[in-house]
Amino acid sequence: MKIEAVHTHILDHVLDTTFESASMHFTRRQHCLVEIVCDDGTVGWGECLGPAKLNAAVVDTYASALIGQDPLQTERIWLELYNLLRDQGQRGLTVTALSGIDIALWDIKGKRFDVPVSILMGGRFRDSVRAYATGSFRREGVDRVKDIAKEVAGYRHEGFHAVKIKIGFDVEEDLRVIAAVREAIGPDLRMMIDANHGYDYLEAIEVGKRAAEYGVDWFEEPVIPEQISTYRAVRAGQPIPVAGGETWHGRYAMLEPLATRAVDIIQPDICGVGGFTEIKRVADMAAMYGVRLVPHVWGTAVCLAASLQFMAALLPSPPRRDPIEPILEFDRTENPFRQAVVTTPIEHAGGAVAIPDAPGLGIDVNRDALAKYALKES
Ligand SMILES: [Mg+2]
Repeated sequence: MKIEAVHTHILDHVLDTTFESASMHFTRRQHCLVEIVCDDGTVGWGECLGPAKLNAAVVDTYASALIGQDPLQTERIWLELYNLLRDQGQRGLTVTALSGIDIALWDIKGKRFDVPVSILMGGRFRDSVRAYATGSFRREGVDRVKDIAKEVAGYRHEGFHAVKIKIGFDVEEDLRVIAAVREAIGPDLRMMIDANHGYDYLEAIEVGKRAAEYGVDWFEEPVIPEQISTYRAVRAGQPIPVAGGETWHGRYAMLEPLATRAVDIIQPDICGVGGFTEIKRVADMAAMYGVRLVPHVWGTAVCLAASLQFMAALLPSPPRRDPIEPILEFDRTENPFRQAVVTTPIEHAGGAVAIPDAPGLGIDVNRDALAKYALKES
């Protein structure tokens, strides 16, 4: 079995309604899928986190080193590709692009052995996970407090057990949003807040101290991800558990936050941290340091499927029979190709998502959708 071709698919949708986090203004959705074709006809799919065109360019750069390789030798290939750009690319796009390739190779491996990737990773500790709704971005031209309160009430109605809301804009307005969300979802639903590194240290402390009374499970990316020591200071200076990790690519980027306990919850994204090969190492590291792992998930159903296969195999910690973690991040923002790219959508039912048990990632890609949403270069 040999790799015959590597293709990238850049999917694109211009949003009907733009929205923003504290760090990014979204006018369109763009995601990069990776397709690896083998000489026996087996096809594997992966996805890269982050700027789609730039990820595709890096995947194309790696492609020539992949042709003719045995796709089952995932560890060897991972190291070879990493070494190609190691001197200038220990994290960032070099690793996010490698993630998409690695996921596609594991999809091929699962199909080759006729088992889901979760079995290859050691076995399934769970066949479904509870999902939490990610949304509540800032939108222009609306009363933000009322807009988000209405949105999260909808998630409660859908059966989600938890919601994550976007803050990091303005301390006083953010606190009004947090209060309104607690009012809208009632006392029982879990709430998480995500600042997308929009605050400085003093603002983060202020928000953490005052938001705690509303019952917040975690405070995500309170400050910029380069400042690991500031994460430690935020942990020490306010009562809400601190989360982060979606921008820390590769295990070396994860080491200091874990070893120095800069976060209570680490959030690797399988499409960014280095695929199945690397996220397994990060999960083992997190377990050794006693840091809870809740994956970051932001992409299409390919990304969802990869995340679910990983979550199925994630060791329970503590090892009780029915641990409440891990929970799945379930993006609720506008993205018509999120589910269209697969023939069977990965949807939630009452806030729970079944983990596919078909070979590989457990999905079939819908090529008509790839064509429909393919980026049209102007
Ligand atoms: Mg986040």
